[in-house]
Amino acid sequence: MSWGFETDAAFQKELDWIDAFVREEVEPLDLLLDSPYDVGDPVRNRLVKPLQQRVRDRGLWACHLEPELGGQGYGQVKLALMNEILGRSSFAPTVFGCQAPDSGNAEILAKYGTPEQKRKYLQPLLGNDIVSCFAMTEPQGGSDPTTFRTRAVRDGDDWVISGQKWFASNANYAAFYITLAVTDPDVSAYKGMSMFIVPADAPGIRILRDVHVVGRNPRGHGHGYLAFDQVRVPADHMLGRPGEAFVVAQTRLGGGRIHHAMRTIGEARKAFDMLCERAVSRSAQRGRLADKQLVQAMVADSWIELEQFRLLVLRTAWLIDKEGDYKKVRKDISAVKAAMPKVLHDIVSRAIQIHGSLGITNEMPFVDQLVSSLIMGLADGPTEVHKITLARELLSEVAPSAELFPDYHLPRARERARAKYGAALQAADGL
Ligand SMILES: Cc1cc2nc3c(=O)[nH]c(=O)nc-3n(C[C@H](O)[C@H](O)[C@H](O)COP(=O)(O)OP(=O)(O)OC[C@H]3O[C@@H](n4cnc5c(N)ncnc54)[C@H](O)[C@@H]3O)c2cc1C
Repeated sequence: MSWGFETDAAFQKELDWIDAFVREEVEPLDLLLDSPYDVGDPVRNRLVKPLQQRVRDRGLWACHLEPELGGQGYGQVKLALMNEILGRSSFAPTVFGCQAPDSGNAEILAKYGTPEQKRKYLQPLLGNDIVSCFAMTEPQGGSDPTTFRTRAVRDGDDWVISGQKWFASNANYAAFYITLAVTDPDVSAYKGMSMFIVPADAPGIRILRDVHVVGRNPRGHGHGYLAFDQVRVPADHMLGRPGEAFVVAQTRLGGGRIHHAMRTIGEARKAFDMLCERAVSRSAQRGRLADKQLVQAMVADSWIELEQFRLLVLRTAWLIDKEGDYKKVRKDISAVKAAMPKVLHDIVSRAIQIHGSLGITNEMPFVDQLVSSLIMGLADGPTEVHKITLARELLSEVAPSAELFPDYHLPRARERARAKYGAALQAADGL
């Protein structure tokens, strides 16, 4: 099936290579290994590292990063076309050096890190020799940063951190946690929180539980419920300036959200391909499912929704390239983030329906994808919050009408039209 969107011939060649490589070499890992993040697992390393080397040899490693960090400095449009292929496989981002949350953590270490922080944490992270974790959400609140309570207090040359973090993905594999803590409770949360690099083996950190999403492989990567009890980090482990945590977090979330959306296109397309194949393969009541008009409606709706979403993602990617700053494209990224769960959810639900009872079993990937769609409505900010961001920005550009009846009220609009063309109408009458 063609998903035509032209790019230059040389890059198309790379996309074709990526497509074949992911399908033939990487997707099988999803079925055999538990987690792409378990860098301590020798079996995972034996299979993953040679594939990573092939990606490096092809010049496609960590394409989202600038060349000085070992990447390709690809713009977002190229990344979108590439990521929609990587979205087919949960191992593909790791094989291509762009897996979350490490990719976002690398971006902020590159942008805000000191030379020493880059040497100690960024370099091994870029090589996938270690993995990292982002610890912002707390048990009492995730979507509203003003609810965060984890506190960092200055003590001589150190900061001492106490509090709890929740849903810190990959905490049990991570070498360090990028942790947000309140450093000045007397100013607004947006100015009183700072970001720290906390080594995972710092005394005082405990993983209370490794929480798993229902329906996910219980041996796969989980999400840490963490306790920080007087955890001491040297002052040079602050990432960015004091009070800058919110700005630092936004830097990584902008890229994270749009790259996730790019990969979701690939995940949804995989479900769509299966839906179509089943429709042309299976018969009921004297005819192929593909020939039933209600099934055709499901195929048409799925294709339209996926392509609409893809164009929204590509346009947002193009805008980020043009503006050169995620912040300037905040509303568009929020629109993408809010649309993403529904597109995947609806296409996957139809794929389940068309597959009948087979669709709902653990012999098919759909229920796992359905769970993914629910996660997408929560992680990196709930859908409601993104809709609010989008609507606020859209409405902020609209001026209230000065009169009781708005300008576009038909009698007023007609008056203006007459004023503009009245003379011409009168002249035409005389023809
Ligand atoms: C799989 C997964 C991985 C994650 N990984 C990480 C990670 O690595 N690091 C990290 O720090 N966090 C992570 N999170 C946490 C995630 O970012 C938070 O769950 C999210 O920000 C929502 O916070 P909350 O769960 O506390 O929900 P709450 O803040 O309690 O909100 C609950 C619900 O209230 C509604 N709501 C909230 N605000 C509004 C509003 N203004 N208007 C209307 N309705 C509203 C929404 O429906 C929302 O889902 C992860 C979450 C998941 C599911």
